Amino acid sequence: MDFALTTEQKQIRDMVGEFVDEEIVPRAGEIDEEDEFPRDIVEQMAELGLMGMPFPEEYGGADLDYHSYALGLSEIARGSGGLGTVVAAHISLAGNMLYAFGDEEQKREYLTPLAAGEEIGAFALSEAGAGSDVPAMETEATREGDGYVVNGGKLWISNGSVADTVTLFAMTDPGAGNEGISSFVVRPEEDDGFVVEGIEHKLGDKGCPTAELRFDDMYLPEDRLLGEEGDGFVQALKTLNGGRITIAARGVGIARAALEDAAAYATQREQFDGPISQFQAIQHKIADMDTKLQAAELLMHKAADLKIRGEPFVKEAAQAKLYASEVSREVANEAIQIHGGYGYTTDFPVERYYRDAKLNEIYEGTSEVLRNTIADQVLDE
Ligand SMILES: Cc1cc2nc3c(=O)[nH]c(=O)nc-3n(C[C@H](O)[C@H](O)[C@H](O)COP(=O)(O)OP(=O)(O)OC[C@H]3O[C@@H](n4cnc5c(N)ncnc54)[C@H](O)[C@@H]3O)c2cc1C
Repeated sequence: MDFALTTEQKQIRDMVGEFVDEEIVPRAGEIDEEDEFPRDIVEQMAELGLMGMPFPEEYGGADLDYHSYALGLSEIARGSGGLGTVVAAHISLAGNMLYAFGDEEQKREYLTPLAAGEEIGAFALSEAGAGSDVPAMETEATREGDGYVVNGGKLWISNGSVADTVTLFAMTDPGAGNEGISSFVVRPEEDDGFVVEGIEHKLGDKGCPTAELRFDDMYLPEDRLLGEEGDGFVQALKTLNGGRITIAARGVGIARAALEDAAAYATQREQFDGPISQFQAIQHKIADMDTKLQAAELLMHKAADLKIRGEPFVKEAAQAKLYASEVSREVANEAIQIHGGYGYTTDFPVERYYRDAKLNEIYEGTSEVLRNTIADQVLDE
């Protein structure tokens, strides 16, 4: 067992960290306030290879291992939770759907521009009536001629309004439950009937547009089907499993930002003739914050390690995501507490960390649903 990062992994973390400190941290407040998709920063990330971190070079990616990808993502989220979601939805969800389930031609045509960062990806699974309960989805893809006609709608789709490629889930056999779900590649610019119905106004996660999508008689040729008809549910679960490692990374990144700011503030802020870091009450908060952060990061790397080895990692990815999500909210909460009244204002970024962290407990499996998954796995062992 080796807990040390390799030289390459450290270099990736430091390279991304430097970029984040120079380009994202100074803009994070503005991204939060304006809630506009920061396309220029995404283009800079593409130049550094950050939009295709784990994919092979032959498909335009940077060929990084999953530890490095998680470290890179956590650094991006340290700068901006919204950008963390932009990259996670683009790579872990849309990109991985194409990489794992696309045929060679689909990978070349749709994954390569995503991995190179020339195009943006989104993953459209959730619906108004089907969040945790995926098979309750009502979007249908009906066979017609050499393709499918899609009708329905999706809700809360990260990158949904800016995506060039959307991996879409729809019922091809509405009576068949899980087994009736299939997945498709959608190209919003080319496919008539693709409508961006609106953009959500959210508590946090600003800069990542969360869109409501509608499909009105949207025709998709047969070669847009990913895998076989009926494979969609299993594909979604497998993709979300890998995705949970990067949502854990988003939690780790936000928690690190909160801890660093809280520690710096505690040594600067003076009350009762000295820095507040002299108080044991503050020291213990810092100690707990760092301990939780370290544990969350270890769970993230454990799940990444199993994924790299090709071993089952459903429980470990769920645990990493569950724990890192709760830790990021708790650490951000304590960071506000350490900042006192200033922490409750927008003069300091700790309130943004808190708003950004909360989302982790909701998307890609709520904390309640993840506890179900973990319990099922433990009771099965
Ligand atoms: C900002 C944002 C971005 C998102 N991005 C995407 C995206 O890119 N693509 C996408 O497809 N979706 C996305 N989602 C949707 C997200 O995955 C869902 O919101 C999430 O799965 C929960 O579904 P729901 O909102 O319908 O809640 P519900 O499923 O209605 O859950 C409501 C409550 O009931 C609990 N609950 C539900 N079922 C159970 C159960 N079996 N046992 C115990 N408790 C349960 C939940 O834990 C929760 O507390 C995003 C959501 C948000 C807010």
